[in-house]
Amino acid sequence: MEQFISEKSFLHKHFTTTKAAGDMKNEAIRNNFFISVNLNPANLVLTNQIHGNNIRVVDSSNRNSFIDNCDGLVTENKDIMLGIFTADCVPLLMFAENSKIKIAIHAGWKSVYDGIIENAFGILKKKFAVKYQEIVVYIGPHIRSCCYKVGYEIGTKFNVKLIDKKFDLSSIICNKLKKNGVNKIFDIKYCTYHEQDLFFSYRRDRCTERIISVIV
Ligand SMILES: [Zn+2]
Repeated sequence: MEQFISEKSFLHKHFTTTKAAGDMKNEAIRNNFFISVNLNPANLVLTNQIHGNNIRVVDSSNRNSFIDNCDGLVTENKDIMLGIFTADCVPLLMFAENSKIKIAIHAGWKSVYDGIIENAFGILKKKFAVKYQEIVVYIGPHIRSCCYKVGYEIGTKFNVKLIDKKFDLSSIICNKLKKNGVNKIFDIKYCTYHEQDLFFSYRRDRCTERIISVIV
């Protein structure tokens, strides 16, 4: 089985691992995987992922580390890779055309509700003067509305009417992106819960293992 997948239309080097690559939270397994695909694991920057809304700007001084107290990373340094662990949450990878900007976001519903996407866009505008029309987005594998049932109060929070408790977080994310003028959105369309052979799913298995999505 393939150890990773990627989205052909997203024209920046990236991937999401599958179960076959193993638990990416395990440092030894992760490092071996990166070496096997000719990437230097020491160039990876990760976050401790707390389901918050903080975005941090990182550079090569942050290579080979976990950034505390944030769920999203932005860099304009081409020598580092940004990674997000998931097992049902939405991994978002982005780049800006005509610039070196790369972004990785761990987008669970709490972070999305608390404005992590707006925070990322605020940083792009203020610090990097990126035009939103130039941003290209990859939506990685996550639990989709086919398998994601939540309490009706979550629908109320997002002002969407849930049918049979089914919650479609990626469509909420897409709407937020489009509202900001981002239209180049490429969704790999996999459901982590559905695809038992391919992905870890916290909801399905209460597992501790995670896949990783990386923008190189
Ligand atoms: Zn599903």
